Amino acid sequence: MLDLAAQNIMYLPGIGPRKAEVLKREIEVESFEDMLYYFPFKYIDRSKLFTVKELREIAAQARNDESNLPWIQLKGAIIRFDAIGEGRKRRLTAVFTDKTGNIELVWFQNIRAIQNAYKIGVEYVLFGKPNLFNGKVSFAHPELDVEDRFYGGEPGVQGQYNTSEAMKNAFLHSRAIQKIITSILEWMKEPMPETLPEPILKQAHLVPLDAAIRNIHFPSSPVALQNAQYRLKFEELFFLQLNILQVTKFREKRLGGFNFTQVGDFFNNFYRRNLPFELTNAQKRVVREIRRDMNSGRQMNRLLQGDVGSGKTLAALLSMLIALDNGFQAALMAPTEILANQHFETLTRMTEGLGIKISLLTGSTKKKEREKILPALESGETHIVIGTHALIEDTVNFARLGLVVIDEQHRFGVAQRAKLWDKNSIPPHVLVMTATPIPRTLAMTFYGDLEVSVIDELPPGRKPVKTLHIYSEKRKNLYESVRRQLRLGRQVYIVYPLIEESEKIDLQNLSDGFETTKKIFPEYRVSMVHGKMKAAEKDAEMQKFVSGETQIMVATTVIEVGVNVPNASVMLIENAERFGLSQLHQLRGRVGRGADQSFCILLTKYQLTDATRRRIRIMTETNDGFLIAEEDLKLRGPGDIDGTQQSGIAFNLKIADLARDGQILSLARDIAADILKDDPMLEKPNNSLLNKQLKKLNRKKQAGWFMIS
Ligand code: ADP
Ligand code: MG
Repeated sequence: MLDLAAQNIMYLPGIGPRKAEVLKREIEVESFEDMLYYFPFKYIDRSKLFTVKELREIAAQARNDESNLPWIQLKGAIIRFDAIGEGRKRRLTAVFTDKTGNIELVWFQNIRAIQNAYKIGVEYVLFGKPNLFNGKVSFAHPELDVEDRFYGGEPGVQGQYNTSEAMKNAFLHSRAIQKIITSILEWMKEPMPETLPEPILKQAHLVPLDAAIRNIHFPSSPVALQNAQYRLKFEELFFLQLNILQVTKFREKRLGGFNFTQVGDFFNNFYRRNLPFELTNAQKRVVREIRRDMNSGRQMNRLLQGDVGSGKTLAALLSMLIALDNGFQAALMAPTEILANQHFETLTRMTEGLGIKISLLTGSTKKKEREKILPALESGETHIVIGTHALIEDTVNFARLGLVVIDEQHRFGVAQRAKLWDKNSIPPHVLVMTATPIPRTLAMTFYGDLEVSVIDELPPGRKPVKTLHIYSEKRKNLYESVRRQLRLGRQVYIVYPLIEESEKIDLQNLSDGFETTKKIFPEYRVSMVHGKMKAAEKDAEMQKFVSGETQIMVATTVIEVGVNVPNASVMLIENAERFGLSQLHQLRGRVGRGADQSFCILLTKYQLTDATRRRIRIMTETNDGFLIAEEDLKLRGPGDIDGTQQSGIAFNLKIADLARDGQILSLARDIAADILKDDPMLEKPNNSLLNKQLKKLNRKKQAGWFMIS
C-alpha cells in the first residue's frame, strides 16, 4: 500500500538537502505525507490580473492604510535593479513595469541570490501584498514566476500557504509549496489511504481522505472545498478526542486515590466559628464537587475556574480542611512570592484558633527557617504548606501529602504538576485554580482529562467595575477624578505595556510615566514595578503598595496575577490598544475587590483599528470573564489565548479552529466516546485502523498530545 510517510521530501525533484532542511526546521515537513498535511491558510482568486494603473487606483482609495489592500497579481518585467545602502541597511530595489506604469520592488535579504534568479526584460507574473507608504505603492519580497511555469493554467480559487522569512529566502514561497504539492499528487499512483473507518465516514457525512486532500490544495469548486475542510477538521479533532478520552480511561483504571471519607472538626469548626461570611451558591457547589471527587477512590484532577475575585481561595481552603480531617497534609502552590505570602497571611488569619499549623516556603525562606520547616513537614506536624516553586524541590518531603492546590495554573507547566505527584506512591488529589476563563471548546480539548468546576458568581455586595474609554489627548480632567479617589483614601494602579520587541522604549515610557505621575500627584507616594527588576526589589515595592505606604502603583503587567489590594479602586491602563482582551480583563480584576465603586480607565490614541475598537468596546460593556474569553478566542485565535501557550501544552492544530468549530468538536467527541465505550483499548478488528492511526499520530507527538497525560 502507498506509504506517503515513508517518502522523504528531500528526494522530490527540485528539493534536495538544503530546501529539505529548511522545510523540516520551519514547518516540520519531512515526508510527502507531512507536505500534503500542510494546508493553505487562505484562498485567493488568482483568475484576475491587475495592471499597475489599476493597482494605483485601488491604492488611492485605501486611505493610506495598506491593510485595506488585497493580494494582487501583475504581469510585467523588471527593467532595472539597484543595490542601495550599506551593512544592515543594505537592500535591493527593482523597477517593475507593465506598460501602464512602473512600481518598485524591494528585497532586504538574500540580495545576491535574488539578483541572480530574476532576469531583466523577462516577463514575470508577480504576486504579493502591496505596501503603501506616503501614497506610494511597492512590493517587498514578492513572488515572481515565469508565466509558462505559472501553476495550474486554470484560473479561480487557489490556496495560499504560510511561509516564513527563511523559507522565502530558500525560494520556498507559497507558489513553490503549491508546486511541490502538485508533484506529490502527480507522483501518487493510488488514492491516499483512508484514515477513518467507513461507518464513521457515513455517520459524520465525510468525504474520503483522498478527495479531501486534493480539494484542500486545489479546490474543484467551493462546495468541494467546504467538504474537504469539514472532513479534515473532523479528522483532526476526532483523533485528538480519541486520544484524550483513552488516556483518561487508562488513568481512571490505573490511578487509585486517597479516599477522604470524613468531614470532621477542622472543617466543621472553621465553618461554624471562623467563616467570616456566607459562601456563595457557586462556592458551595464547587466544594461539594471537590468533596465527591476526593471520596471516589480515584485521584482527583480538577480544574477550578473562577473569575478574578470570585473567591477561589476559600474553596481551596475548605478542600484542604477536608484533607486535614482525613489525616492528610495539604500544599498550596502559587506562582510568585507575593502571592504565596498573601495566601499565607490570609489562611493563617482565617484559620486562627483551630490548631492548624501552616508554614510558608519560598525561594527567600532563610536556611535556618528551612531547617525547621522541612522536618516538620516530614514528620506530619505541619498541616498545610504554602509556597512557590520551592515546594517541588527534592528536599521537600511530606509525611502524608493528600491534596495539592495549584493557584493561577497557567504559570505552571504540566511537568511541574507531575513532579508534585511523585512525592507519594499514591498521587495526591490535585486542584488547579485559574482565573483565566477557558472557553468550553478549549477546556474540552486540553483538559479533557481534567474535571472542570466553575465559580460563576461573585460574592454579594461587589459593585461591578465601571470601565471607561478615554483618548489619551483628553486625559486632563481624568487626573482630577483620580485625585478625588486618592483623597477618599483609595489607591491607584497605572499600567503600562511592556513587550520584548519594544522593551527599551517601553521601559522608557514606564519610567517617564513614573516621573510624570510623581509630578502630577506630589502629595502622594508612588511605587514602580516591572518584570526587569530583581525579584526581591519588586516584592519590596509591591509590599509597600499592599501595606498602603505608597498610594499609586506604576507598573507593567507583572501585577496581573492574583494580588489582592481591596483598597485599590482605580486602574488607568495606558496604551490600552496594545493589550489583548483577556489581559485587559485580568488587569481589571485587580480593582473592584473591596466594597467601593471601582473604575478602570482605558487610555488609547485616537486612531484605532476596527479590531481594537471592538476589544475596547467589549471591555466597556461587560465584566463577564467567560464572554470575554470567547470573544478573545474569536478575535485572536486559540494559539494566543492566555494560558494555553503557557500551560506547557504545545498548541498545534493544523486546520480546526476551536473558536469556530465547536460543533464539529462535539460530534467528534461523541463518536470517539461511543467507540471507546464499546472497545476502550481499540482491540476489535473493526477499530484496527483507528488504533494504527492513533499510534502513528502519537509517535509524531502532534499537537503535543503526549503531554496532556
Ligand atoms: P480569587 O478567586 O480571585 O482568588 P479571592 O479568593 O482572592 O478571589 O477572593 C476575593 C475576595 O473575596 C477576598 O477578599 C475574599 O475574602 C472575598 N470572598 C470570598 N468569598 C466570599 C464570600 N462568599 N462572601 C464575601 N466575600 C468573599
Ligand atoms: Mg486568587
